[in-house]
Amino acid sequence: MKDASSDPGHPVPLITAWNVESQVHLIVGANPLAAARCAKSLEAGALPIVIAPDTGDMHFALSEHIATGAVQWVRRDFQDGDLTSLGREEVDRVVDTVFVTLGGNHPLSPHISKLCRRLRIPVNVSDAPELCSFTLLSTYSDGPLHIGITTSGRGCKLASRLRREISAFLPPNLGTAIDRLGAVRRRLWEEDNTAGLGGEVFDAEDDDATGQKHTFNTLVTESDVAAAKTRRMRWLSQICEYWPLRKLVSISDADIDAILKAYSSGKDNAKGAMGSEMLSQKGKIVLAGSGPGHPDLLTRATYNAIHNADIILADKLVPAPVLDLIPRRTEVHIARKFPGNADQAQEEFLQMGLAALRNGRQVLRLKQGDPYLYGRGAEEFDFFRKEGYPPVVLPGITSAMSASLFADIPATHRGVSDQVLVCTGTGRKGAAPEPPTYVPTQTVVFLMALHRLSALVESLTTFPAEDSTPHSRTLWPKDTPCAIVERASCPDQRVIRTTLEHVCLAFEAAGSRPPGLLVLGASCHVLHNPQDQRWVIEEGFHGLDELHGEAEAATEAVGESTR
Ligand code: SAH
Repeated sequence: MKDASSDPGHPVPLITAWNVESQVHLIVGANPLAAARCAKSLEAGALPIVIAPDTGDMHFALSEHIATGAVQWVRRDFQDGDLTSLGREEVDRVVDTVFVTLGGNHPLSPHISKLCRRLRIPVNVSDAPELCSFTLLSTYSDGPLHIGITTSGRGCKLASRLRREISAFLPPNLGTAIDRLGAVRRRLWEEDNTAGLGGEVFDAEDDDATGQKHTFNTLVTESDVAAAKTRRMRWLSQICEYWPLRKLVSISDADIDAILKAYSSGKDNAKGAMGSEMLSQKGKIVLAGSGPGHPDLLTRATYNAIHNADIILADKLVPAPVLDLIPRRTEVHIARKFPGNADQAQEEFLQMGLAALRNGRQVLRLKQGDPYLYGRGAEEFDFFRKEGYPPVVLPGITSAMSASLFADIPATHRGVSDQVLVCTGTGRKGAAPEPPTYVPTQTVVFLMALHRLSALVESLTTFPAEDSTPHSRTLWPKDTPCAIVERASCPDQRVIRTTLEHVCLAFEAAGSRPPGLLVLGASCHVLHNPQDQRWVIEEGFHGLDELHGEAEAATEAVGESTR
């Protein structure tokens, strides 16, 4: 966070939440803004008094409040004496707060502002920050939760947009959950105190930034006798601090009762209650694709799943920038896949996922590209479904289609290619799969093929010498365009454009940079043709960065035009 004290142009306001119940709010004016101020005051339990002459153009909402008696109307212009005569008796009739809705240019505005400051009455003047001793926040409320935003008078539209965006991040029912957890907190404190276990003063504010104890981050353990007294309280603090909000809002009274019983049973068996084992919440699993590499290529659904997961089981190929998005406290495991260990690694992950699900946890199985394209996704789906946990499956942008795109190769192109074939260069148990037959208008994408590129090219362009049987497939001409695309969408993306004739030599000369794939077909030379060069190598990937720059510029332009 920025250190505000180092920014003299922006002094930090003291943001507070006032209890204004039964206080007198003087509202000068009867326009729509005055109506909005009245509504806010009423909402907060204050008693608004409107001062405005009877000119017949009072806002209808104000008229209604006046008709019902909720708002008092003084039918004349403001008089200085109003500030010290219309207030509550207990404060010598000085009004509690003043809202002037006439705007900064009205001669009364600076006058009232000055009087109020002299009398130490908080005053707000519309559209005149310099005349205000306080400003109102754009607020979001859900039960006991209130979030306020201020741009210090720089842009109230922007403040309300920020409020909307921030509140959209919050799960529904957060207010109810706060009420529930607040009640538990009080109950724990009272029970501990009755039992003589207290010692820490109950402070309604102590979960705000300043009140955290230095022992807060120490995990509670069974053997920790010193911690026993305040263990339940610390359990509560820990779930408030660490649990994903989505999980916090789903906690039920029954869950809380079960946890508290475990703590008060006297036996030290409450350890299980620390985690989620005792929650009635059933484990859930999401099986999601993380795209080819660049984190901007995640779907929003997968991005949300990353943020909601308790435990993430990621494939080895899931790119580092995607793993960087995982919240710091989320448990992450990367598959220990290496040649010869693939099946064991897969089994280990399935069992880990299952154990987490049985403990009521939210599991994310994160795969590279798309989970159902050479990702063993359906096998995993079937496994978890049989165990009673059918996964939610989220698609990912597959490298098969996006790598060619990022290499400027259109998978189809009018008059050149009218079909696409995605296949693997490696069969089951490492065997060579049957090569596809030559189709002049086809684009073929070979995944998992580069480690045996020369054998693949050989099988595409020639029949085995010993094979004398009639052939059901046609060979690919050696001058068919092709491209190797490696680490597509990553900063070190590399494209080698060539033909079947030279691809092996080119790849050998360049050296491999996994993961990579081979794209084959006339479409490879639609947008870039190496002409008389045997091959061309292109390094780097910048497409999305440029987009970022433009997006920011566009946002700024919109900002300017609404100011
Ligand atoms: N499910 C993945 C594919 C898994 S198979 C998907 O939909 O993309 C793994 C193969 O994908 C690799 O051998 C490689 O051929 C290809 N691959 C994965 N990421 C790639 C990338 N960023 N660039 C090029 N090829 C990639």
